Amino acid sequence: MPRPISARIDQDALEHNLQVARRATSARIMAVIKANGYGHGLLRVAEALSSADGFALLDIKDAIALREAGYRQSILLLEGFFDAEDLEQIAAYDLGAVVHSEWQIRLLDAYPRVDSLDVWLKVNSGMHRLGFHPAQVGMAMEALQRHRAVREITLMTHFANADDERGIVMQLETYNEIAANYRVSRSLANSAALLRYPETHGDWVRPGLMLYGASPFADISAAQLGLKPAMSLKSRIIATQRLKAGDEVGYGGKYRAEREMRIGVVACGYADGYPRHAGNGAPVLVEGRKSQLLGRVSMDMLCVDLTGLPEAGTGSEVTLWGAGMPIEEVASSSETISYELMCALTPRVPMLT
Ligand SMILES: *Cc1c(COP(=O)(O)O)cnc(C)c1O
Repeated sequence: MPRPISARIDQDALEHNLQVARRATSARIMAVIKANGYGHGLLRVAEALSSADGFALLDIKDAIALREAGYRQSILLLEGFFDAEDLEQIAAYDLGAVVHSEWQIRLLDAYPRVDSLDVWLKVNSGMHRLGFHPAQVGMAMEALQRHRAVREITLMTHFANADDERGIVMQLETYNEIAANYRVSRSLANSAALLRYPETHGDWVRPGLMLYGASPFADISAAQLGLKPAMSLKSRIIATQRLKAGDEVGYGGKYRAEREMRIGVVACGYADGYPRHAGNGAPVLVEGRKSQLLGRVSMDMLCVDLTGLPEAGTGSEVTLWGAGMPIEEVASSSETISYELMCALTPRVPMLT
């Protein structure tokens, strides 16, 4: 038997979550599949989401792989192009590109084709990451509108706080003031804005996280949103130990038994992408029943409590996250977010569909 860890990707769940997005909006859907489809596998995800109106990602190689696999919809490069070579590929494969800085407009002058590029002009409406300052948008828009290489312009922005109580009001106001000056397509919403703020939908929404079946909100679960987790990370117990009162578990002895108890050693560690900062008490399912981590996560193993699970032992299935074990709960026990956990799975974990 091989080492028992694997990540199963449920393509039906991906498709289902896309339908949840469809029901929430009449805008076109640009499915965000950056970072290898949030760790789920680029082509596996694209196949399940093939009815999306477009795909957004960062790496031009991935964009080309999608074209070569036969996808005909819009493909958007979220950081645009970095050099003239990128522009040649963009022309060859008919890709769309975010333009967020003046240096990109200067690079565009070398673009080999006339009137063929779909540009997503990015406005910094308050996140202060990528995008033109509101005072600079007019200049950028003018340059792009009269640029021989540009076919279509979409005005986009990205929200910093759509998932929390600060919301989108300030950024939306800034964006709307700018957008009122132009007759171009609009794109603003990530998953959180798509689900919570219909006034942000515009012409294109850009959901990522929700398609993978996780909730962007701390106070609403994925299940409450009707989403199904697309990734299930599972392994098995490969050894058990009996502890007596005072025995310590793992590196640093971060868990000490208060009484006699039994623990299971699971073939999953931080070298598989499980967060090392998951502490004592982080949730886990053993044979479908809720249990908890004990002690520190090590490189290849972690330990779980088998108290109250007399039937569990070597060979028992352990769900680290996925159906029945929300990834959001593991993330919050590790002071991180579900996005990071999904992306952090390492190549040694076999991916199954
Ligand atoms: C990653 C990303 C998204 C998707 O965000 P989610 O929170 O995963 O829905 C949308 N737009 C841009 C520009 C992004 O970088």
